[in-house]
Amino acid sequence: MTMTGIWIMRIGHRPQRDKRVTTHVALSARALGAKGIFIDTGDRVLEDNIKSVCERFGGDFQITTGVKWKDIVKNFDGVVVHLTMYGQRLDRALETIPDDRDMMIIVGAEKVPPEVYERADFNVSVGNQPHSEIAALSIFLDRFTSGNALYEDRDGKFTVIPNERGKTVVEVPK
Ligand code: SAM
Repeated sequence: MTMTGIWIMRIGHRPQRDKRVTTHVALSARALGAKGIFIDTGDRVLEDNIKSVCERFGGDFQITTGVKWKDIVKNFDGVVVHLTMYGQRLDRALETIPDDRDMMIIVGAEKVPPEVYERADFNVSVGNQPHSEIAALSIFLDRFTSGNALYEDRDGKFTVIPNERGKTVVEVPK
C-alpha cells in the first residue's frame, strides 16, 4: 500500500460500543480528504460498511482493521499528529506542521496510552474542552486542507449535486 497523503490511526475501537462513532470517524476522514484509516481492533462489519460507501460514492479510501498502532506508526514515513484536548493550540500548531509531508493522524476512543503522546511529532488540541474524535478530526482536516476536499469529484457510481433545496443524485453509467 502506498502511504502518501493523510492517514488516520484510530486507537481503542470497541466493535460493539463504538461501531457508529468509528464508522463516522472513517466516513468523515474520507469526506474531508484522508486517504485511509487504520483501526486497532479487527472489525469486518465496519470494513464492509466503509467499502460499500466507497463503491457507491467513489474514491480510493482504504480501511484496514486489526493492526497494532505501534507497527503502523513505526513503518510510516511522515509527520505524526495526535489529536488530544491536552495538546497545543490548533491555530499555533498549523503554523508549524509541515504541509509538504505525508501525515498520520492518531485519534483515540477512551484514554490513549502515554506512548502516543511521546511518539507524536505534534500533540494538537481542537479547543481545550473534551468533545469527540469525529469533531476533532473533522475540524483539523478541514483547517489543514483549507476545505479543499469537500466538493472534490470522487468519480463514484453516484454523485450528489449540491442543491439549495431537494436532493439531486446522479447515477453515472460505467
Ligand atoms: N478522556 C479521553 C482522554 O483523556 O484522552 C478522551 C476521550 S475522547 C471521547 C476520544 C478522542 O477524541 C480523544 O482521544 C481525542 O483524539 C479526541 N478529542 C476529544 N476532544 C478533543 C479536543 N478538544 N481536541 C482534540 N482531540 C480531541
